[in-house]
Amino acid sequence: MDSTCWIKYSDYELVKDERNMDCIRPTADAVPMCYDVAAKLGRNVAELMNIVLDDKDVMGRNMKFARRFGLLGLALEEDNYLSLPDERADMSEAVFEATGRTGDNYAGVFSRAYSEKAANISVWLDWLAVLYNRAQVNRNGRMVEEPFAALTLQTMLESACKNILASKTLKPCPVCGKVFYNEDHNAETCSDECQRVHENVKHLQWMKENFHSTPISGG
Ligand SMILES: [Zn+2]
Repeated sequence: MDSTCWIKYSDYELVKDERNMDCIRPTADAVPMCYDVAAKLGRNVAELMNIVLDDKDVMGRNMKFARRFGLLGLALEEDNYLSLPDERADMSEAVFEATGRTGDNYAGVFSRAYSEKAANISVWLDWLAVLYNRAQVNRNGRMVEEPFAALTLQTMLESACKNILASKTLKPCPVCGKVFYNEDHNAETCSDECQRVHENVKHLQWMKENFHSTPISGG
């Protein structure tokens, strides 16, 4: 399976399962869309990290993640004991065919009836925050690069995060605080706008250090 495409629906909602647990599922009228997770991977991972690090509203974070990237495909991992819904996606439909994925399992996770527990998504997003923070601490240390794992959305994004964190191309902008991706290690800020502010701040600091080093005594 070499496909790096995945299905996300146009909208998701929070529902309760039979044990009254919060689950996330496509809304009844949501439209499936196929997208390539690996296209603009660095920018996707930066966007993911900005969702991950904004953890004041845990459920809001889960919903934001699902609306941006889709559901993780957790039922396809062997040790998850999650079941696929009875309803299957029609894999001969163009949008599902475009993923390049085939078989009954994918027909299950791409189904409109497929849901994932919000708690599972939360735990995984927290884990990505740990990886990010670890990489910031280990700025000069080496992180092991991993092969890109295409099985599910979760494996794709997690292996991409590890690789991009290992390559040190993801960092917080000193001006706006957002995490940004830039292949150029010398890039200081996330955008031209922030760069202008950054230059001004640096210039003011330089002025301060060179012209106001002696305190002016009042009175
Ligand atoms: Zn910025």
